[in-house]
Parts: sequence; structure tokens; C-alpha cells
Amino acid sequence: MSSEKKSVLILGGGLAGLAAAKRLTDKGFQVKVLEKREIFGGKVSSWKDEEGDWIESGTHCFFGAYKVLYDLMKEIKTDHAVLWKEHKLTYTLAGGGHFTFKTWDLPSPLHLLPAIASKAAIKQGVPLIVQATGGGARMHEGCSSMVGLPKLHVAISSVERAGLPVISIITDPTLGGVAIGIASRGIKLFEHNAGNIGFSGKRVIEQYTGKPTTRDFQTTWWLQQKGFVERTSLPQNMKFKITDILKEYRIEQEQLEAQEA
Ligand SMILES: Cc1cc2nc3c(=O)[nH]c(=O)nc-3n(C[C@H](O)[C@H](O)[C@H](O)COP(=O)(O)OP(=O)(O)OC[C@H]3O[C@@H](n4cnc5c(N)ncnc54)[C@H](O)[C@@H]3O)c2cc1C
Repeated sequence: MSSEKKSVLILGGGLAGLAAAKRLTDKGFQVKVLEKREIFGGKVSSWKDEEGDWIESGTHCFFGAYKVLYDLMKEIKTDHAVLWKEHKLTYTLAGGGHFTFKTWDLPSPLHLLPAIASKAAIKQGVPLIVQATGGGARMHEGCSSMVGLPKLHVAISSVERAGLPVISIITDPTLGGVAIGIASRGIKLFEHNAGNIGFSGKRVIEQYTGKPTTRDFQTTWWLQQKGFVERTSLPQNMKFKITDILKEYRIEQEQLEAQEA
């Protein structure tokens, strides 16, 4: 067998690239990481600005369930630097005041009411209609809810597999875990005048890219121009739109059943 080390080229020095580099190096590979930016770390990178302050690419919460990440931190001897936090977030407001957001101290899965509603929908044989609204994992939902997202997706899929419609009404704001959770599933109905719809908010994106965004950024209208939004409704017409969706759904189901018969 050749004693020459096999070489691997990794494109991108974000968390995934660096973790892969460490694992491959441990296994005896010759690894080279190509990173296009001046700093490594990708979306979790941080750097010092001209005044010597540490700047982050957006707040990151690492949850207790991130076993693989903590194993990696232990291996590279950085686990001592983890600061375990209470589920409480304190914001400093303009003018020096403070605002503290404390999440409900409820055990999982009570923070996942949509998942529970899914079970009820299947049992009753009725559509699941959920209004998505929330301001990002670090604000309204609390960090722990992000870990529960897979459970939510499994629950929504079980409603769809039961042949029942899932309708997600997307209102303002719909960010973070809510955006990649319930608001990314089923038949999506966007509130006509909503804004702040996306994973990261406007401020975080502007800080990360270093570029200003447009005034209509992340509004229903803007998302519609990008081809992301198919159905919108004014709040006062919402119930009629939902009725239309359910009628369409029933007609489709009947056509499918007729084809199968
Ligand atoms: C604002 C924000 C907040 C977040 N908060 C959380 C959180 O609280 N908890 C959580 O678990 N996750 C969070 N995430 C997600 C998390 O940061 C990412 O999932 C993770 O960092 C992705 O790592 P990655 O290595 O896959 O990708 P990236 O970090 O995107 O790394 C990809 C790297 O590849 C480089 N690259 C791209 N193209 C090329 C090329 N052609 N040649 C060379 N290099 C290239 C890029 O410069 C980058 O460094 C957040 C993300 C953002 C943006």
C-alpha cells in the first residue's frame, strides 16, 4: 500500500468545511481548505473592527442538542469557552433602557402547538390551518424551539399524508424558525400588506452583506416579484380565500379519486 497521503480539497472554510477538514486530517488525509473570504468561519465568523470590537455575522445560539458540535469543540479543546445561558434575552434599547424577553418555561413539546394541532386534524379528518407569525428564533420563539423544528415538519407531513390540506397564513412578521417551520409548508397564503418575511431580518442581512436593502425588502409584494408568493389576501378577505382553497382542494381530491376508480 502506498504511504503517500491522499489529498482532499475543500471549497469553503465555513463550519462545515472546517469540521470536514478536521475529521479528514484526523483520518490521515492531506487537506487544503480554499476560502474566498479573508476570514474563515462563513456564517459563524467573527472579526475585530477598526475600534477593536468583536463583530459577529449575526447572533448564534448553540443548543444543548448539538452533540456533534460539542464533541468537535471538546476535540479541539474549545468546549470550556461555552457559556450556558438561561432562556432569557436582554436587549439594550436606544436611550439605554433594557427589555428582557423570557420564553415560556414549558417542557417540549408544549412549545410546538402546531404539532399537537396536526394530530388533532388527522383524528378529526379536518384541514389544518395555521397562522404563522413570529419574530425570529432569538426573539419570540426562544432558542429551544429551533431544536423542535424537525418534529413540527414530521407532524405536518403526517397531516399531508393523511390526505388533508395544510394551509399556512403568513403574516407580519414571519422570521427565523417560524419562517422555516410552519410558514414553509402546505398551501401558503400571504397577508397582502405583510413585511418582514424571511429567515434573517433586514438589519442582519444588511450587516452581513454590507449592502443596503430596498424599502420593500421582505414584503409580500417583494417576495411576489421574486416568484416566491402565489397567493395573497387582504386581511378582510382571508376567510373567503381559505374557503376557495378548500374548494379547490376538494375538487382536486375528487378528480384524483375519479382517476383512481
Ligand atoms: C444571521 C444568522 C444567524 C444564524 N443563527 C443560527 C443559530 O442561532 N443557530 C444555528 O444553529 N444556526 C444558525 N445559523 C445558521 C448557521 O450559521 C449556518 O447553518 C452554518 O454556519 C453554515 O455553515 P456552512 O459551513 O455550511 O456554510 P457557510 O457558513 O455559508 O460557509 C460556506 C463558506 O464557503 C465560502 N465559499 C462560498 N463559495 C466559495 C467559493 N467558490 N470558493 C471558496 N469559498 C467559497 C464562503 O465564503 C463561506 O465561508 C444562522 C445563520 C445566519 C446567517
